[in-house]
Order: sequence, then C-alpha cells, then structure tokens
Amino acid sequence: MANTRPLPRLDSTNRDFWTCGAENELRFLRCGDCGTFIHPPRPVCRHCLSENVAPEAVAGTGVIDTFTVNYQKWHPAMDVPFVVARVAIDGAPGVILTTNIVGCEVDAVDIGDRVRVTFEQQEDVYLPLFEKID
Ligand SMILES: [Zn+2]
Repeated sequence: MANTRPLPRLDSTNRDFWTCGAENELRFLRCGDCGTFIHPPRPVCRHCLSENVAPEAVAGTGVIDTFTVNYQKWHPAMDVPFVVARVAIDGAPGVILTTNIVGCEVDAVDIGDRVRVTFEQQEDVYLPLFEKID
C-alpha cells in the first residue's frame, strides 16, 4: 500500500487501538466488570453497559474467518489486488477484525489460515495488518 491511504480519525476511545502498534502490541478494549472484549472501540461495554473498559493486550495471532480479494482500485493509493479479511483474534472471544492480509500472493490466502499481526505505520496510526504463519 502506498502511504496516502485514508486514515482513521483518532479520539480518546479509539486512540489506543490505532497506536498500540508503536509498542508492537495488539490491544483491544475489555470490560473490567464482565470481561467482554469490545471492538470497534466504544466507551461503554456492549454487554453490561459498564464504563469500566480499558485496553488489554492479546497475542496478536488469529484465524481467517472469511475473506475477499479486491481488484477494484477504490482509492488512488491502493495497490490492487489485495485481500480484505475478517480475522478471529486469538484470546479475544467475539472479536473479529476486518483487515488486510499482506506478505503473500492473494491466491495463497484461505479460510482457516493462521495469521499474525504486523503493523504498518502511517503518520500517528499503526494499521494492524496480518500475514500468514507458515
Ligand atoms: Zn461488561
């Protein structure tokens, strides 16, 4: 990907998620009362409505739940084709991250593949992308 792709707008709720890659950690908000992981980031637990939520690190691995290959150049900064995948995150039940699979040919990607996070820094944001684990 070129370095001009659209970036998320950071706020107090999502900042940790988009910048935790600076410490090479993948973190998600987790409810301190009921233990539910919360993604996308919200200031209130979607399960018990507690506001006692804080970032918690996970292993950074997961499994491809489903994916599609995008051939359409939606944005001038896009290099096509690329894989858009939903990755079920290890250790964070219920968290499925929509992301890109990088570091391999698009036809090498399959449902059930094990993947590991790799961060791509653009300005203040560390995009959590994933690559296959051999
Ligand atoms: Zn909760």
